[in-house]
Amino acid sequence: MGGSMAGLLAARVLSDAYDEVVVVERDTLPSAPTPRRGVPQGHHVHVLLEAGRATLCDLFPGYGEALIDAGGLIINVGEDLEQYEAGGFLASPATRMEMYCASRPLLEGVARERLAARDPVELRGGCQFTEYVVDDGRVEGVRVRGDDATETIPADLVVDATGRTSRTPQWLSEHGYDTPPTVEVEIDFTYSTIRIDRPAGNRRMLFVPQSAPRTSGGAAFPIEDGEWIVTLGGMHDADPPSTVAGFETYADRLPADGIRELVAERRVVSDGVDRYPFPSNRRRRYEALDDFPAGLVVIGDAIASFNPIYGQGMSVAALEAVQLHHLLASGDTDAIGPRFFAAASNVVDIAWSMAVGADSEFDATSGPTPTGAGLFNRYLNRLVRRAHTDEQLAEAYYRVVGMEEPPTALLRPSTVWRALRPAPGVGGFSAGRSALPNDRA
Ligand SMILES: Cc1cc2nc3c(=O)[nH]c(=O)nc-3n(C[C@H](O)[C@H](O)[C@H](O)COP(=O)(O)OP(=O)(O)OC[C@H]3O[C@@H](n4cnc5c(N)ncnc54)[C@H](O)[C@@H]3O)c2cc1C
Repeated sequence: MGGSMAGLLAARVLSDAYDEVVVVERDTLPSAPTPRRGVPQGHHVHVLLEAGRATLCDLFPGYGEALIDAGGLIINVGEDLEQYEAGGFLASPATRMEMYCASRPLLEGVARERLAARDPVELRGGCQFTEYVVDDGRVEGVRVRGDDATETIPADLVVDATGRTSRTPQWLSEHGYDTPPTVEVEIDFTYSTIRIDRPAGNRRMLFVPQSAPRTSGGAAFPIEDGEWIVTLGGMHDADPPSTVAGFETYADRLPADGIRELVAERRVVSDGVDRYPFPSNRRRRYEALDDFPAGLVVIGDAIASFNPIYGQGMSVAALEAVQLHHLLASGDTDAIGPRFFAAASNVVDIAWSMAVGADSEFDATSGPTPTGAGLFNRYLNRLVRRAHTDEQLAEAYYRVVGMEEPPTALLRPSTVWRALRPAPGVGGFSAGRSALPNDRA
């Protein structure tokens, strides 16, 4: 259920294990890469982290080539990315690190095309999932509504990939099950986005994420059709612009000039500004349920959705799909729901600790803070400052934020030493926050 990134990835792994896989998507599926109603975030910057890139390329051989053929770009982080954090730009990583850049509709469209080419798969657009068909504690199919008819699709396994507004919790409650405990961390985030023209051959990518106490941030990412997509974001009290005219003023508040200069110099090619409010990080702890119907799995944003500034959602969905693949490959699909939720929670834990850990640095963020976040943030702040001039630290940091390595990779003794050793000309070292004032715009 749901034909966005999590649904496509889940369908891909199901197609190895089942004779027939049906993707039920409420939207009519576009033939060209255009934003669609069910994925309104598709208007905004979408970074594909390394974990997502590698998994998409594994699951859909030729994904990268198809993306480039369709106009997407490969950038080299060291040459093309200008990332400003903790008062300076990160150094170029020690080795070449590639990143695919494209609009969200193109990233999804290429995955959809490659999925559609697989024999067991049928994509049904314009088809709305309405309810589960259950018998004796087992989900045995779904009811769906097309243009003018309702139909039952029987199924050995149903995957709910309907996103953050998934109705599975409500359905569980209506059918006598406990609902998953929900953790909500409020950040009151808003994205404002325009697209501007980009000269041929220019692959510059600029990223100035929020950094406590500065609640405003921005990004300019190169995408297909000779454009940059420019998103200005704001947490809590920050209010990103709702008019094109307001973009330059808001970008001027950022501590680095690049985004403001691009906005001032280039031609706006989008129709006005797209805005997207994102109130909270939200996690539904399905792994905590003792009783869950057989024949059902929930994946992607329907389990957890994170502050989008960290760019984790598609990669988390991809890593969860890999977990589903491992369970299906074992051939034992009994109680697959609880076993999948346990495996997926390990993936979510990492993304959650990074996103919520960073968001907890802002005083106005409300909700539970991951254990140890304060100490880790102070260490990370120190490491990022050192990464302004230390290319090995910059690389180690990029590999963690790209979800290629877990945050604990930053605690390897050699990395800790590079981050905490006394700077030349400075006596002693301290990981204390007072010694590490954050950049203020
Ligand atoms: C502003 C913003 C920016 C983001 N930026 C990034 C980023 O930079 N990098 C990144 O990796 N992630 C990013 N994300 C997150 C990313 O978009 C999602 O994590 C990703 O799309 C996976 O979500 P999903 O497939 O689980 O759900 P969704 O993308 O929400 O898709 C749900 C799908 O289910 C369909 N659906 C819903 N109900 C029904 C129904 N009843 N019947 C049939 N179909 C139904 C919808 O039409 C939709 O296609 C961002 C999110 C937001 C909000």
